[in-house]
Amino acid sequence: MEYEAVIGLEVHVQLNTKSKMFCSCGADYQAAEPNTRVCPVCMALPGVLPVVNRAAVESAIKIGLALNCGIAEVTKFDRKNYPYPDLMKGYQISQFDMPICGVGQMDIKPEGEPDTKIGITRVHMEEDVARLTHIENVGTSGHSHSLMDINRAGVPLMEVVSEPDIHTASQAEAYILKLQNIIRYLGVGTANMEEGSFRVDANVSVRPVGTNELRERVEVKNMNRVRAVVRAVEHEIKRQTEVWESGGRVEMETRGWDDVSGRTIIQRSKEEAHDYRYFPEPDLPPLEIDRAWVSEISSQLPEFADARQSRFEDEYDLSEYDAALLTSSRATADYFESVVVAKHLTGAEQASFAKEAANWINGELARLINASEGPSQIEDIKIQPAQLAELVSLFQARTISNAAAREVLEEMWVSGTDPNALVAERGLLKVSATKELLPVIQEAIDNNPNAVEDFIGGKETAIRFLVGQVMKATKGRADAGVTADLLTQTLEEVKAAR
Ligand SMILES: [Zn+2]
Repeated sequence: MEYEAVIGLEVHVQLNTKSKMFCSCGADYQAAEPNTRVCPVCMALPGVLPVVNRAAVESAIKIGLALNCGIAEVTKFDRKNYPYPDLMKGYQISQFDMPICGVGQMDIKPEGEPDTKIGITRVHMEEDVARLTHIENVGTSGHSHSLMDINRAGVPLMEVVSEPDIHTASQAEAYILKLQNIIRYLGVGTANMEEGSFRVDANVSVRPVGTNELRERVEVKNMNRVRAVVRAVEHEIKRQTEVWESGGRVEMETRGWDDVSGRTIIQRSKEEAHDYRYFPEPDLPPLEIDRAWVSEISSQLPEFADARQSRFEDEYDLSEYDAALLTSSRATADYFESVVVAKHLTGAEQASFAKEAANWINGELARLINASEGPSQIEDIKIQPAQLAELVSLFQARTISNAAAREVLEEMWVSGTDPNALVAERGLLKVSATKELLPVIQEAIDNNPNAVEDFIGGKETAIRFLVGQVMKATKGRADAGVTADLLTQTLEEVKAAR
């Protein structure tokens, strides 16, 4: 019997609002010293009242609209009760039966599989909990203890719940990458898995192919990279299939992913599962969401990656690959468009310039950003889009060689200097004048008699070696085409004279 997986994903997305979800404390919990972003509300002292953060609600609406969800006209908050040391109140303010965003849908393009749609069940708002750091085996006594940082308690958290429409690890990966991309395009969060601002739980079950049954599912947690989700889902599908095939039963349970062993490990069985005893939050009245506000937010949504990629392919005649790379981040796509418009070109000229600009941004500039210990994002670099446009233009007009353009780019990266000034200052204008090149060519011929003999003996590739020598002598400023022509001409004369 063949099995297929049924997977639903629950993603907790931390918002980058200025203040917390229900109090005015700063939400910049990571940058701050432990326990410095606290007040009576997020410390859960008795007698205090929460107040809803309008910016967080706006972010939730943006996420919902981007996921094609219906936005509730009235939404309410509920208490989710459970005891844990990181939750001082003994309950978390969350949303139960009236979430802010209802049913929606996401189009995904999984690697190596057909495009498909994944249903969104809901998006709801809640608050993060405090952060515990477990210190184990301290000193000679070997005792252990836990430290609590309340800074994170109350930071706005959105939970995005998918329908169990995902059937492969590749679809799960595409869903997560797209959701991260949407969050980043909206600018409502960093969606960084490693720092914990984007946490994925996967509900995985398997069933015989061709049936609609829903078998016991396992919730997998503790995955802090997209790659870990892919591996955990693959492992869990294989494990469950083997259990059913061997005549056993998969238990409903929570398992944690262990990246080192590459396996999921049981954390909690169904018997230990919590009953959260949800009830309406008595301190917060239901929230009415004004339709005019929703329309206004909707009208301000950015052009998302998929649409922008298609437009780049059409408008600038870019390859799918280039357009996908450029639109993988909104800042890169913005930068690219600023470079292109800086030259005020149209039609075929614009397309050819855009192609060259894409090569430089996806190539040399990306390499500099990746290798940099300083700016790691394109919006933070010193090179202004208009300056890059100038460099691309110089290169495209063959005014400077490839090597010279790279040298100029590296200097621009360091100092933010204008490319024209650098080309003039360093004497990098391309040498294509015969007058200047001939002495250098003669020198290359004099110094490399073997290559000359090879050429005369019929080995025409010897020219390439000699062109290389001329390039070296001119530090890459010689025009390769002109050099090759002049060399061939000179050597033919030598040959004829014999
Ligand atoms: Zn507070």
